[in-house]
Parts: sequence; C-alpha cells; structure tokens
Amino acid sequence: MTAFVTDLSGDFRHACAARIEGFLRTATFDRPTLVIDTDVVLQNFRALSQGLGDAHIHYAVKANPEPQVIEALVNAGSHFDAASRGEIELCLSQGARPEDISFGNTVKKPGDIAFAYNVGVTLFAADAEEELDKIAEHAPGAEVYIRLIVEASGADWPLTRKFGCAPDHAVALMDYALSLGLRPVGVSFHVGSQTRKAEMWAPVLDRIADVWRAARAEGHALDLLNIGGGFPAFYGEDIAAPAIYAAQVREMVAERFGDLARLMAEPGRGLVAEAGMIAAEVVLVSRKSPDDLHRWVYLDIGMFSGLAETMDEAIRYQFVTARDGERTGPCILAGPSCDSADVLYEKRMIDLPLGLKSGDRVFIRSCGAYTSSYSSVGFNGFPPLDVVVM
Ligand SMILES: *Cc1c(COP(=O)(O)O)cnc(C)c1O
Repeated sequence: MTAFVTDLSGDFRHACAARIEGFLRTATFDRPTLVIDTDVVLQNFRALSQGLGDAHIHYAVKANPEPQVIEALVNAGSHFDAASRGEIELCLSQGARPEDISFGNTVKKPGDIAFAYNVGVTLFAADAEEELDKIAEHAPGAEVYIRLIVEASGADWPLTRKFGCAPDHAVALMDYALSLGLRPVGVSFHVGSQTRKAEMWAPVLDRIADVWRAARAEGHALDLLNIGGGFPAFYGEDIAAPAIYAAQVREMVAERFGDLARLMAEPGRGLVAEAGMIAAEVVLVSRKSPDDLHRWVYLDIGMFSGLAETMDEAIRYQFVTARDGERTGPCILAGPSCDSADVLYEKRMIDLPLGLKSGDRVFIRSCGAYTSSYSSVGFNGFPPLDVVVM
C-alpha cells in the first residue's frame, strides 16, 4: 500500500473549514450565499492527482460550474468532463483546451455533438446503439468509450440505474461503433457518488475488469479506462484523506488492469464539496401545538434552492450556529418554500441549539458540490425552460 502519501486529512480539513467560516463571520449577505475557496479546490486537486498518479483528472463540471473554479482548475492542469454544450462552452471560455474536455453524458442531442466536434472535442461517451449512430454522424471517426452499469456499491448518492449498458452488452456496442467508423477506445463507469470507503470499489472494479478482458479477447484494442467520480467529501463521518483514498483506488486499478495507456478519473464532489460553505438564516422555529414534542426549524434555504441532495436525507450536512455550545435538542429541519416536500431532515432529526430563533445565522459546511448548480436555472449546462406567451 502507498502509505507514505502525505495525509492531509484532519488538520487540513479543519484549517480549511475554519478559514471559510472566518470569512463568513465577518461578511453579511441578504440572502443564502455559497462561499467558495478555490485554494481548497486546488489542494484537493493536488491530493487526488498525487494519489491517482498517472491518471488524468477530468473535473465533473456539474458539481460546481462557477467560472472561477473552472479557471483555477484549468491553470492547475485539470481536464474536464462536460455533459452539455453549455458546460463545454463554459470550459472553453475559461481557457480549457478542447482536447482536454470529454463529452461524458450518454444522452446527447445531435446538435450538441456536432458543436463539440466542431470546436475540437474528440472523446465521447455512449451506452446505446442510437447514441453511437448520432456520434458517428456528427463526430465522424471520434473516440468513444462505453459506459457500463455497475451494481450499487453502497454509495450515499448512487448514480447507477440511469446510465450505462449491461456489462455483457459492451462488446456488441464496441463492434457496432467500429462498424460505424468510430474508435471504441475504452470503458467507463461510476461507482456512485460519495462512496465513503475505497474498499467499496473492489467488486465494481472486478466486474469492469471482466468486461475489459472480454473486449480485448474479441480483438478490441482498448487503452482507456475511465473510473468516473465517487471520491467522497467530509460531511461529519470519518473518511480517508483524499490522497490516501485515491492511492488505494489507484492500487486496486493496477491490480486488475496492469499498465494502462490512459487512465481517467472524473471527480466532482471530491474536488469542490469541502471548498464551499453556505451562509443561511433561521426564518422560523415553531411547534404545531403547545405540547408537540417536535420542534420545527425553517431555514431560508431548502430542497429547491440549493440543498437538493437532502432528498431522501441522502447527504447529511453539518450546521454551525452562533449558539453552538448551548444545550441542543432534535428538530425537524425544513426549507422556506410552500412545497411540503421541502423538508430536509425528519426521519433522522438534526440536533440544534434549543435557543435557536428567527434571524439566527446558520452556516452549512461542505456545500461546494451540487448546491449552486442544482439551484440554478440551468443545471448541468442545460438552458432553462423557455416561456412564450401567446
Ligand atoms: C456526476 C458525474 C461525476 C462526478 O461524480 P462525483 O461523485 O461528484 O465525483 C463523474 N462522472 C460522471 C459521468 C458524472 O455524471
């Protein structure tokens, strides 16, 4: 094991959080605001790069499309995984080279494929015949990798069902790609977002290695393995330092795939989550009746304005208040919108200070990933719904 990799976990995490928190304390905002520290993004980039060795890191832009985040990563030498024309344009506008951008969405519009091809993007994902048809028509001769479905690995935010083909269909898709004049160069998968332990990758990598071997046995000269994202962020539960976690994954890959000409990883959350903290505010603290055991705390931010990953209480954020240290008790935490689904935590209530009241500021830690992007009108670079009045 690569045990000598610098462990930047505990102390470093603490210092980062303290720095962002310090900034939030001295600033005032009149609405919920995400504050991002790009130094933390770069530190995470270096840590994952160190652990992954020769792999190219393609930042999954959807995790946080803030132009300054992209720019910082361009300057650090990162590559990018884009899911739409909008994300490709964003990366190019911040100085990324088109050959460093992969078009990783397996569901692409023909016009977007043509756009990508015309600006010089050469690497595309696919998981179905029809998608390969589109790529062959609008990006003739391009390199493609086949996305595979993998079993849920126990990730906190699984990404399994929607994307990928059945592993035993992969070779047929490679054959088909070849017949269309495309260049099937490899495979990809996503182990599931927030995969807390590196060991959870092992069975998934076993399955991918089976497909890899089968494809090579059929004569496909694969040279690209794309291991996707899944690198975890700290939300209060213990996780390994990024460099150590990444080195463990790299080692498991080496054990199964030997020397790889091209290895690619697509971290999103692992690069940006801990680089951000949200400043929010308590709007109301109430009970439904004087003897109600349940205390409800309503924030000015909720499921539809940034905290989408609280869906099914999947991601449990950490909250900081000015009353920390006072006596606490459980509460149901909810957002401000008039939709009854806008409840953040109820099955597993959150402990917050009993003295909390309307107007109190609340800081939410590790909010740099999948917050601003989900709450924007244009998630993942897809334009918002147009409205026409007749
Ligand atoms: C969202 C996404 C990622 C990033 O996943 P994380 O778990 O945030 O690292 C990587 N690859 C693809 C194809 C994605 O859709």
